[in-house]
Amino acid sequence: MKFTDLGLNDELLRAVHEAGYEEPTPIQAQAIPVVLMGRDVLGCAQTGTGKTASFTLPMMEILASGRAKSRMPRSLILEPTRELAAQVADNFDTYGKYQKLTKALLIGGSSMEEQLKVLNRGADVLIATPGRLLDVFERGHLLMTDVKVLVIDEADRMLDMGFIPDVEKIVSLLSPMRTTLLFSATMPKEIKRLADKFLSNPKEITVSKPASTADTITQALIKLRAPSKAPGAAQKVKRDRLRTLIAEQDELTNALVFCNRKRDVDVVYRSLEKHGLSAARLHGDMVQSVRMDTLDKFKNNEVKILVCSDVAARGLDISTVSHVFNFDIPTHAEDYVHRIGRTGRAGRSGRAFTFVMPEDRKYLDQVEKLIGKPIPLLGDVVSSETPNEEDKDAKTDTPEPPAETKVEDGNDEAEKPKRSRSRGGRGRKKSDAASDDNSNNENDQKADTKPAEEKKAEKKPARKPSSKPKSNDNDDIGASPWGDNMPAFLSRSVELPKG
Ligand code: AMP
Repeated sequence: MKFTDLGLNDELLRAVHEAGYEEPTPIQAQAIPVVLMGRDVLGCAQTGTGKTASFTLPMMEILASGRAKSRMPRSLILEPTRELAAQVADNFDTYGKYQKLTKALLIGGSSMEEQLKVLNRGADVLIATPGRLLDVFERGHLLMTDVKVLVIDEADRMLDMGFIPDVEKIVSLLSPMRTTLLFSATMPKEIKRLADKFLSNPKEITVSKPASTADTITQALIKLRAPSKAPGAAQKVKRDRLRTLIAEQDELTNALVFCNRKRDVDVVYRSLEKHGLSAARLHGDMVQSVRMDTLDKFKNNEVKILVCSDVAARGLDISTVSHVFNFDIPTHAEDYVHRIGRTGRAGRSGRAFTFVMPEDRKYLDQVEKLIGKPIPLLGDVVSSETPNEEDKDAKTDTPEPPAETKVEDGNDEAEKPKRSRSRGGRGRKKSDAASDDNSNNENDQKADTKPAEEKKAEKKPARKPSSKPKSNDNDDIGASPWGDNMPAFLSRSVELPKG
């Protein structure tokens, strides 16, 4: 199958050719002709399969004739996170460079005023996160009756993040005379139910087994054990092993390190930096502009290792990640698939390492059940890689929570938000609306569900009671553990604004 067989116009074909695509991916080959016929699509596809183009290209073809009126978009793409929305907008620019279509982006964390100006000029395509979209609608700045094509992307992520009530409300505001495309990497029962409700006689397209992992990824499990029950001992073993593991990787060009907790993202990031590695961090407590800036630096290779929470796990198009390290095994098995799916994209090979402690057995079982195979074990169980090495990042240690808390709080990035607040339209207070600006992001919502003290503890990681004076804070930014043998690409450290 060639792109020219799909029924796309010359402008789109030219843009696709210039993007370097030689032939459609399986999801594109199957979805594009169906969407062009006006039929609904239920797509089950992993990220990295080319699914964004499978809906943006036919949408742009459908919208090629006609013009958007002020505040009345002609199509709508719903994304669970701001980063994904911004990424789809980038794709829209790439594929639409020879068409005169207009787009608007409605996402939290950026000026609403600017976004409204664009919307007022008329947008053929509106790309939005559910929270900001509803805010704008309730303030009377948006009419959605003209939407001819609706895309609900990453539906399973919407479900995890508690967005389904918002999505249902948004769909109820649209005309039934529309084409609806729903994409999800996994198809749990709730998503099937939604599909039955929103889609009419959809063409079901599955391009790979739900929740399967790509063959291009070499996976390995590393079993670790804390040498003692001392606070932070388990985390220190992991940090030590992470550094030696990174040093052992000959073909590491850039890597993502996933932690379950935002505070561990901070600690691991600082630890890597202190040991002379080129690292940055990304999690939902950071302001939007810093998050975007950090991602750009990572994509542009100014930073080699990005320590992140699951906010970065889904969909983000970072095409050349060579390694993924699961510093913590995820507590939701699907997240494993999404995290390691950041490497081994578009046929490239990638490596994914996962650390497990004895208490992680339950989560490991869930992951292995989901992917349908055991993750090969690498080496023996290690309790401490560098027992005699000075704990350079001791002062960044966060005391580990007691076991019971750990299970409950095992994945504070993936904790489901409680959306008890009703959207009150005109009666809503400005402060509510302002907090909604951030609410269309998983982490911001989660922060809302936490007691103030816990939030404070996350923002300012607790330090081990230390007798060292504060002025020694920088003493442990010392020599690299591998001295002169440090790989050159790791030796650059980039200063990023504090999140
Ligand atoms: P997606 O699954 O939409 O996130 O796309 C993953 C990556 O594949 C992105 O970098 C796209 O630019 C790229 N891509 C999409 N379609 C094609 C294609 N037909 N040929 C080659 N690369 C593609």
